Order: sequence, then C-alpha cells, then structure tokens
Amino acid sequence: FPVDKIRNFCIIAHIDHGKSTLADRLLEMTGAIAKTEKNKQVLDKLQVERERGITVKAQTASLFYSHDGQEYLLNLIDTPGHVDFSYEVSRSLSACQGVLLIIDANQGIQAQTVANFYLAFEAQLAIIPVINKVLSDIPTEITDREGISAKLGTNVEAVLQAVVKRIPHPGGSVDDPFKALVFDSNFDHYRGVVANIAVIGGRVKKGDNIVSAHLSKTYEVNELGLLRPEEHATQKLFAGQVGYIIAGMKDVKEAQIGDTLYRHDHPVQALPGFKPAKAMVFAGMYPMDQSEYPALRSAIERLTLNDSSVTVQRDSSLALGAGWRLGFLGLLHMEVFNQRLEQEYNASVIVTSPTVPYKAILSSAKLIKEHGGEEVTIVNPAQFPDRSVVLEYLEPMVLGTILAPDAYTGKIMSLCLSRRGVQKSMVYIDEQRVMLKYLFPLNEIVVDFYDLLKSMSSGYASFDYENADYQAADLIKMDILLNGRPVEELTTIVHRERAYSTGKAMCERLKESIPRQMFEIAIQAAIGSKVIARETVKAFRKNVLAKCYGGDITRKMKLLKRQAEGKKKMRRVGNVDVPKDAFISVLKRK
Ligand code: GDP
Ligand code: MG
Repeated sequence: FPVDKIRNFCIIAHIDHGKSTLADRLLEMTGAIAKTEKNKQVLDKLQVERERGITVKAQTASLFYSHDGQEYLLNLIDTPGHVDFSYEVSRSLSACQGVLLIIDANQGIQAQTVANFYLAFEAQLAIIPVINKVLSDIPTEITDREGISAKLGTNVEAVLQAVVKRIPHPGGSVDDPFKALVFDSNFDHYRGVVANIAVIGGRVKKGDNIVSAHLSKTYEVNELGLLRPEEHATQKLFAGQVGYIIAGMKDVKEAQIGDTLYRHDHPVQALPGFKPAKAMVFAGMYPMDQSEYPALRSAIERLTLNDSSVTVQRDSSLALGAGWRLGFLGLLHMEVFNQRLEQEYNASVIVTSPTVPYKAILSSAKLIKEHGGEEVTIVNPAQFPDRSVVLEYLEPMVLGTILAPDAYTGKIMSLCLSRRGVQKSMVYIDEQRVMLKYLFPLNEIVVDFYDLLKSMSSGYASFDYENADYQAADLIKMDILLNGRPVEELTTIVHRERAYSTGKAMCERLKESIPRQMFEIAIQAAIGSKVIARETVKAFRKNVLAKCYGGDITRKMKLLKRQAEGKKKMRRVGNVDVPKDAFISVLKRK
C-alpha cells in the first residue's frame, strides 16, 4: 500500500458516547466483520469489558476502504474513556495522525471529552468531531450540524470520507531504514510477546533480525501481520502500517511500550518514548487461604504480563499471611484487575483497603541511612513512619475537572469543599453548563467521589483528573480494632481534620458488613491509644437452627450449606470472621 493511501486514527470520547459502537459499524461497512444484529462492541473482547459495558484495553483494527475508485488502508484504534485508562489513550495516539472525537448529542461535552481533546490537541493530531446518537432528543445548540448514529449506521459513511480527506497520511518511506514504534504489547503463553507496532519507516519481514532500542537486544522476527481485528499474518509490514510482530520476546518488559525497533544492521535514532504510567492506588492482595498462594502468584504474574502499568511487590500481613502489594492507575483499574484474576484465572483474592502513595521527609539520621534518603514513599499504611521521626508528611494532589449543569453548582461546591478541594477556576462553557477546576488531595477523590458526584447531579456531572504535585499535609495513622485487636489490613492514613468522621464512617460500614457471630464484636477506630469511634455487632441469638429441629431435614441442610458458603467468603481475623469485601467497602462514605 502506498503511504499516501494509509490513515491511522483513534476513536476517543467520554465513556458511553459510542466509540466501540462506531467501531462496529466501521468494521461492518468495510467488510472486516459480517453485518449481523449480534455485533455489539466486538472490540471489547474481555469478559470484564462485556459485563461492565466498558472498554478497558485499546484495540486495533485495519480496514480496507474504497472511495472514489481508490483503495485505502485505515488503521483504527478504539480506546477506553474512563480516566483510569487515559494512559491507554495517550499511547494509542502516538501511533496515529488523527482522531474521531465522538460526542453524544444528548449529553454534550463531558469531562473526558475535554481531557481527550487536549490529549489529541497536544499531540498535534487532526481532530474530527463526530456528533453521535442524533436520532434521540437533540439539544438545540447542535441541531444545525450534521451528526451520525453509530447504533443505526446513519451517516457513518461520511465519517469514513472525513477520515480519508482530513487526516494526513503517516508519511515515511519504504526506502528509509526500518523503524517502528511499539505502542502496545500483550503476552501469549505459546508465542510469547505480541507487540503492536506502527511502522515509521522502511519495511520488515519474517526472518529479519531486529533490535529493541531500550535493551539493545536482537531478535528474529517469527511472525508479523495486520489486526483485522483478528491477527492476520502477512509477509511484510511497510512504512505507515500498523500491525503486530512476534519476535521471540519472553517478557513484556522486552517490548516496552514506547520503545523503538530497528534492523540490527541499520541502527536509527530512537523515538522519544513515553513516561511510564504512574501507579496512584495501592492495595494488598492475598489468597483466601495460604494453600492457594502459588496459584495466585502465577495468576498475578501472568496478568501483569498483559498489563505493565500494574506494579507488584511482595508483602505480608499478620492476619492474611504472605501476599503482595500492587499499584494501580486508579480504583477502577484495581477492580478490573481483581475481576480478571477471578474470571480469567479462577483465583479468589482478598483485596485490602486501597491507599494512595504518601511521602514522609524523615528527620531521624538512622532511618535516613536505612532508606538511603530523606524521602520515603509509603504505599502501605501499616508502615507509616511515626511523627517523632518525621519532619513533614506529603500527600499526592490532583487537578480535577468537573462539568455540570449550573443548577448543581452549589451542591457540587460543597461536596468539593468537604473533600478538602481548593477551587482553581469556574467558567461557563455555554449558557447552562459550568466547568469547575479544583485541586484535590488524591486520597479524597479516589474511592467514592465520582459516585457521589453522579448521584447528587442526577447523573449529569462528569469528572476527570490529572496528577499534580505533592503537598504538605497533617496526616495521621488510624487503626481499626476488632475486639481490642488492631487489624493491620484496615489501618488507614487520614488527614487530622478528617480523622473523626472517617473513623466513625469506617466503624459504621464494618458494622453493616460483619455478620453476627457467637459473641459480641466491638469495632473501634483509634489514633494511637485513643479510641475515637465505636460500634458493636451483637451476638447471635442461640436458636437460629431451633426452628428446624424436628422439622424438615432438607431445610436444615440448606441453611447449614448457605452458612458454609457464606463462610468461604470470610476471613478470620483474630477470632472474628470478616467478609472479604469488607476490606474495600469500609472506605466508602455515604
Ligand atoms: P463507548 O464507551 O464510547 O465505547 O460507548 P459504547 O459504544 O459502548 O456505547 C455505549 C452505549 O451507547 C451502548 O448502550 C450503545 O448501544 C449506545 N449507543 C452507541 N451509539 C448509539 C447511537 O447512535 N444511538 C443510540 N441511541 N445509542 C447508541
Ligand atoms: Mg468502548
């Protein structure tokens, strides 16, 4: 294919605005998949994507399109919309020259529309706005423009024409030395690493010896081809094309995202690469039972091979035994990882309450020596250094963007204030809708802020954030005690101002989730030796089974079986059975 007949583009938008549905129609219209009723978000292949109805992983598909007697090769990348996965979007953009920015006509511009627009704008890509879902109620502001319906396929041909006309071709020449960008990679048990590449210049074929610039290691190309969206092996890949390559790499670290590949006998200047994704939410992960440790270890290893943005460290806890501390891009990322472990690897996992990476500036010479520096990052609250050895604590901040109808501004501002937000700006983006910018401590928005914002605005507000710097904060460690015994896994770091309300809320939440047992259970929140909140779970009434005595034996068996099944999802901490979900739900505030 001549380079000037190639177009590489991403579909970007706020979540649910119709990216994956538009991808379906484009695949159908170009014959990549057959037209059937069943084609619903075909690029969302993972079970977790299908169940949650969201895209988690960017997917590439090459399409053949003829227009005006010319044949074009279009490489489309469907991307996720949720803020946790914006890393997937930025690296996908690096393989493209243009984007389709989809906007749901009913919802208009939302927080991730703005965020994604800036990603594309800063990468200097051609931006084609596409107004979707036009066959429903259309706000007056955009009725004068033409829109499409990704669901029905109306006007979608115009989108393909715009891609051809308005997105520049990738440039580069087949006569240049071979140079390719690795923009994604995944791991296949039989074939090793499958890297997604965008060929910047030259050509590559099976049997070529190529080098990855990052590690300067040489590999022989075993297989390469296009993604349509299934792998479709070809003889060669040429400048301008996007495809996959398999070259005997055993570990995704060998195919680092952002890396440059070149021919071993023809070195080239490496591309600038990407900043590595930064884990912002950490949690402990433990097997339900220590006998399941090896199985869980291999599941985590395999899944992280496919998701290099997850960080893993070994960890252990008194109550839960040996496990790991994992770092994620956000809470949804963590939930998705956990769900994939359970669904794709059949693992049963206890996840401890998530925490953000705090920092402490140490004052003790001894500790400074031990840590090899004054500054320590704390990803496990149980290891929070005591104030007596610390000059200053620091917490990670984020710059949040909220878009909402102005009727909700007052409510939203008080929510932000209650989360220690500091307003940076407020502008009207049209007559009725406001864009607010706030600086937040990450810790205050990571768990439940988005849910609250949604529910208080009847679903109309949207939220996005980007990382900002660390700021000094008055932080303290709060312990949770069950029958007087501190439960390390429930220890949290809180801002002093928020200690009382957080402690109270955590005790209340635990009371709701811990079932009655044979004895009374005291749930307490404490700072040092000072108890600041308490709740009690009353003991069982002794006669739960009494009504079954002499009665129907199958009913009794059923009741016992139900209890035993319930037990399996419990973890014994001291003498108390704690449901495994309690560790996370305890942080959610109502
Ligand atoms: P994504 O998150 O941007 O990938 O959005 P999806 O493609 O998963 O679509 C989200 C929802 O919007 C799904 O329920 C789609 O069926 C629906 N949807 C997508 N396009 C249209 C459209 O043109 N009209 C209508 N009515 N619904 C649409
Ligand atoms: Mg999608």
